[in-house]
Amino acid sequence: MLIIGNGTVLTFDKDFQVISKGGVVIEEENVVAIGETEKLISKYPDAAFKDVQGKIIMPGMINTHMHLYSTFARGMDLKTDQPPKNFVEILEKLWWRLDKVLNEEDIYCSAIYALLDGVKKGTTTIFDHHASSNLIDGSLDIISEAVRQTGIRANLSYEISDRDGHEKALDGIRENERFIKKAQQEGTSYLGGMIGLHASFTLNNETLSEVAALADELGVPFHIHVAEGIADFYESKTRGYKGVAERLNRFHILRPGTLAIHGVHLKEEELEILKNNDSYLIHCPESNMGNAVGAAPIKAAIDKGVTVGLGTDGYTTDMFESIKVANLLQKHESHNPQAGWEEVFQMAFKNNREIAARFFGETLGVLQAGAPADVIVVNYYPPTPITSENAYFHILFGISGDMVDTTIVGGKILMEDREISGLDYERITRRVKEQANDFWKRF
Ligand SMILES: [Zn+2]
Repeated sequence: MLIIGNGTVLTFDKDFQVISKGGVVIEEENVVAIGETEKLISKYPDAAFKDVQGKIIMPGMINTHMHLYSTFARGMDLKTDQPPKNFVEILEKLWWRLDKVLNEEDIYCSAIYALLDGVKKGTTTIFDHHASSNLIDGSLDIISEAVRQTGIRANLSYEISDRDGHEKALDGIRENERFIKKAQQEGTSYLGGMIGLHASFTLNNETLSEVAALADELGVPFHIHVAEGIADFYESKTRGYKGVAERLNRFHILRPGTLAIHGVHLKEEELEILKNNDSYLIHCPESNMGNAVGAAPIKAAIDKGVTVGLGTDGYTTDMFESIKVANLLQKHESHNPQAGWEEVFQMAFKNNREIAARFFGETLGVLQAGAPADVIVVNYYPPTPITSENAYFHILFGISGDMVDTTIVGGKILMEDREISGLDYERITRRVKEQANDFWKRF
């Protein structure tokens, strides 16, 4: 038993309590009590005690769209005289080239680095979307091994696509099926899978029919990029649909629990398709701005009753960064300084939690007795009073991922005082850098 105490506890429960001089009691994988530190110590006198000296104690962050395989792109030379001019060219000249080169060691190194980077920035749960089109079979096992070593919770999927021919799409289907069955058999609340699809414009009708049948059989939904760039919209339009969501709906891809990523070019009536099918829309503001694809209709989606989550799309591993950018983008796009506050709070702290609960079967993203102990300690000393009403604004304006100094998942300490526990972080980062160097030569 462990008490993490003498901090300011942000519970993120229904009352959004802020407990000063507070603490959290952890027994094995769960939180068993929350309250004032002194009372907790007298109630649990035999528990070990970690004094956080006034820092913030809050639930770990949940990232609902990530690409662990993107690690080696950082600082990489695209080796072209003609840099990408639009989103499709970014795919063709960067991501679709990169994913073809990935070998086993590349996939492992990319994953373990990005996972540990997430841990260092307070992320305790991720939903990953993987591609490595010349090493499909077993690729999700390589990633799940890295996930197991780091200790965070992950839901994995392989991005099925016909862009390299139907054989590759079939390989992708088999990989998702194999991994999902394995994860279902293991049945832990740390690892899960769903069916990954790249995007409508790289999937033919035959493949969509096949994956829908597989989803029925396995009882899992999809993780798919939807209307990210305008090209995805035009492709569906050419096929006779009003938009991407209409086409995907025709093939029963937008089903309960499906993660529809981006939705930048969705028509208003298509947002209703998401809502009516109980599918989620996942907003990735930094990625959308970086790829210059436009701003997703977040406010319209929320007004229509769509549950909108927040992810990083591999652009960063820091959910605190995504929160800040999401807030600014809403204001900038609508020319309204009041826009964004509520929407971003809902996405990051209510909806991501709901999505995680659905897939991991646990109450994540909240500190309360009985919930899994996914807890972070943040080295932030507010210069102004912090209350239930304003704690979110302290997070928005005062906290970044690098201020997280302790990360705990399921009661296990993954990082303490900025040091990764149980793994040789120096050795891992050396190995990753050597591998990146080798990868860059092969790119
Ligand atoms: Zn993505």
